[in-house]
This record gives sequence, structure tokens and C-alpha cells, in this order.
Amino acid sequence: MKIEARFVTSAASASDLPRDGLAEIGLVGRSNVGKSSLLNALVRQKLARTSGEPGKTRLANVYRIARGSASPIYLVDLPGYGYARRSRQDRQGQATVDPAFDEIAKAVFARHPAALLLVDVRHPGLESDQAAWQWIVAEAAGAAIVATKIDKLARGERIRAMRQLESVYEVPVLPVSAATGEGMDELWNLIDKLANPAHRNNSSLPHPNRTALPAPSKVEGPKK
Ligand code: GDP
Repeated sequence: MKIEARFVTSAASASDLPRDGLAEIGLVGRSNVGKSSLLNALVRQKLARTSGEPGKTRLANVYRIARGSASPIYLVDLPGYGYARRSRQDRQGQATVDPAFDEIAKAVFARHPAALLLVDVRHPGLESDQAAWQWIVAEAAGAAIVATKIDKLARGERIRAMRQLESVYEVPVLPVSAATGEGMDELWNLIDKLANPAHRNNSSLPHPNRTALPAPSKVEGPKK
């Protein structure tokens, strides 16, 4: 199937984000989780920069993706979180998400996009990932979890890690590998589900329903 993908903008604040009302899916994950690689594997071109300086960018990179005859969508690649010093600070206090992540992510999530949380399959149940998931569940129109770098685990380890992930998050988790292409068709299906019915950018609407996927409602929302 033909995929047209292009970089739109690096957004620093709400005013930089697109205004044409296409469905948006936020990509959330720790620095180095493999977000850029996954994006490139999905669209089968080198769209996003991989292995840059992790944790440094505070911008959301917006990509416009049109696949086959489906309506175009925006994939909004949010800054990675939970890196180095900030992770240590997190452990002292609440399980909060990196404030740098919070800032632009809040602007993006105020539009009630759908969201994908990427977690490294080798590190299931990290505090920072769980905090991000709680936040996503409270803010996003629909959400799902993707386990990256599945090729790095042998079969037995993989089964164990996937079980652990699904037990921590209590929702189905999709295993993928940007390296081998495993899970890309399933990921497109997931993206289609999240994008349709389209979540329009109208913050005056009541809180959007979350029926796109098995409700992640067992997870408590963050303290406001
Ligand atoms: P980002 O910081 O989340 O955008 O992560 P990157 O996409 O830059 O990937 C971080 C590192 O993990 C790089 O060295 C990638 O080559 C590696 N990586 C990413 N995805 C995969 C994968 O599916 N399999 C393997 N084996 N390595 C991966």
C-alpha cells in the first residue's frame, strides 16, 4: 500500500500545531525507546532522525501520513522523557513525568489526540512509563501500548516480558520491531482504529469517548 509521509513542523507550543482538524496520534516514550526508528519503519523511509542526542529536544515533531485511501493523519512525535538526571529526581518524589515532556505534551494533549505509548520490551513496568500511561489514559481520546525492540529477546524471554507488560498495564500490548519489521501491519491496524472515528481538534467538545480500544480505565488517573 502506498504511504505518503512528510515532516510538517517541529512544534514548541500550541500555536505551532496544525489547525486543519486531521486526526492526531501522539507518540510517547522514553528517550531511546526506538520511537524514531519505529516511525521510519512504519512509513518505510527515513523521516525521523534516530539516535540523536537523547533527551535534548523539547519539540514535538509533527508528520503528516497518508496511507492508501485512508484519511491522512498526523503522527506527533513527543520529546522522550525519563532520561538520566531527571529519572533520579523522579524517584525521590512522585512518579511524575519529566517536566520537559509535560510542557509540549500538555499542549498536544489539550487537543485530545489519540496516543501510543512506546515501551522497551526489555524494561517492562518502568515507573516513568507507568506515570506516562496514567497521564495518557486521563488525557487521550484513545490509547494503546506498543512494546519496541522485540527482536532483542529470545522466544522465552519475549513471552515472559509480554506477560509482565500486560499484567502491569492491564491492556493488550503490541510487540513490534523496527529492525525486522515485525508487527508493522498490526501497528497500522491499531493506528487506523485510533484515528477512526477521527478525533477532531475541538477542545470545546465534551471529553471524547475512549472506545477505540479496550478501555484502559483500570489505571487510575494522575492527581491533579
Ligand atoms: P528514540 O530516541 O526513541 O527516537 O530512539 P531511536 O529510534 O533513535 O533508537 C534508539 C536506539 O535503539 C538506536 O540505536 C536504534 O538503532 C535502536 N533501535 C530502535 N528500534 C530498534 C529495534 O526495533 N530493534 C533493535 N534491535 N534496535 C532498535
